Amino acid sequence: MTEHTDLIVVGAGIIGLASAFLAREQGQSVRVIDAADRPVGSSIQNFGHACFTAQADVIQPVARVAREGWLRAAQQAGFWAKESGTWLPATSEIELQVLAEFAEHRGDDLVKLLGREEVAAGIGNPGLDALGGAHLPLDVRVDPREAAPAIARYLAADGVEFTWNTQVTGIADGTVATVRGDFHADRVIAAPGYKLLALFPELAERHEVRVCELAMALIERPARIPADLAVLTGTSMARYDGIAAMPSVPELREELARREPGLVDVIANLMMTGTEQGIFVGDSHHYADHTEPFISEDVADLLIDRSTAVLGIDEPRVLQRWKGQYADSAGTNLVLEHPDARTTVAVVTSGIGMTLSFGVADLALRGETISGF
Ligand SMILES: Cc1cc2nc3c(=O)[nH]c(=O)nc-3n(C[C@H](O)[C@H](O)[C@H](O)COP(=O)(O)OP(=O)(O)OC[C@H]3O[C@@H](n4cnc5c(N)ncnc54)[C@H](O)[C@@H]3O)c2cc1C
Repeated sequence: MTEHTDLIVVGAGIIGLASAFLAREQGQSVRVIDAADRPVGSSIQNFGHACFTAQADVIQPVARVAREGWLRAAQQAGFWAKESGTWLPATSEIELQVLAEFAEHRGDDLVKLLGREEVAAGIGNPGLDALGGAHLPLDVRVDPREAAPAIARYLAADGVEFTWNTQVTGIADGTVATVRGDFHADRVIAAPGYKLLALFPELAERHEVRVCELAMALIERPARIPADLAVLTGTSMARYDGIAAMPSVPELREELARREPGLVDVIANLMMTGTEQGIFVGDSHHYADHTEPFISEDVADLLIDRSTAVLGIDEPRVLQRWKGQYADSAGTNLVLEHPDARTTVAVVTSGIGMTLSFGVADLALRGETISGF
């Protein structure tokens, strides 16, 4: 095959699709190649939480670009995106202190400190057991099962060639070798997500990229809880780099180890997001080069128990469970490299790829990277 485009994107997850979307805005001809017949990777397995505010200071300019990209894509491709922000109930004095430090650091307009009643009303649980909390108004909610497929459909209608069911076996100097033959482009962006190891083993090993597996569930949503809900908890404050940099976080970690040893053991980021279909609850973290398919019932139960306690749901009905996977590295949050002059590899190696997608795609298209992240 000799068909030539300005750009080939390998991977129809959110990073690849965001790259294709921005390239089309620039008027480039684009082909997207994916091993599956639709988006099936991390990008449909997650919370759909574009969690800009809690990310590290250094990535905030990229997060702003990402936010604009999400809102433009939602408007053009016609998928659900709500600028409803994130609620953070504080269940202890130290959690309140961390949120106060974060509000001081980021500013009152980006981190609004609230009383218990306001947080309870925001998450739809009048009986919320909290001392107070915060709201992060810039954060955006999308439905992860809808967004990537909608962008792919929109791009296909806009002239992007999609080559589905086609495993890529190698990428170099503008040639993409696949099981169906070679494709050519001026530039190639490879966004294989947690399958980086199979495509660029040397790069994956150099950045110690591994797979993070997470226990997830979808539970029924009572009508009192908003469909655009996003709730982070104390474990999230200790996890997301922006908040985790606050001075009281070491003390929060000690408190969590005493108060919630089960959650700390499974490296939980206890959080919940809503959609029309239900409430996503999770998650635990386990790291491996190659994951196992099994979900521990104890871990799944613990996450559901603690999430529903925050939401005031006494008898949750579980609609689905699944094991999510994303690319992770202990050393970096982003692999953005240029193995040759025509190839860019873009993989977010932390659980924040939905949040940053359009910002990372923008960096990849401009041939830039960001250090210290
Ligand atoms: C449970 C869970 C919860 C999460 N929650 C959030 C959240 O709330 N907010 C947030 O910001 N992030 C979250 N994340 C992380 C986020 O989902 C990922 O960082 C992001 O989706 C990665 O997108 P991607 O395009 O790189 O990868 P993917 O979506 O995995 O897409 C990669 C694509 O590449 C294709 N591919 C790979 N190798 C090849 C090959 N050799 N040939 C052809 N095709 C190939 C695959 O088929 C796949 O379609 C979560 C992740 C999980 C699993």
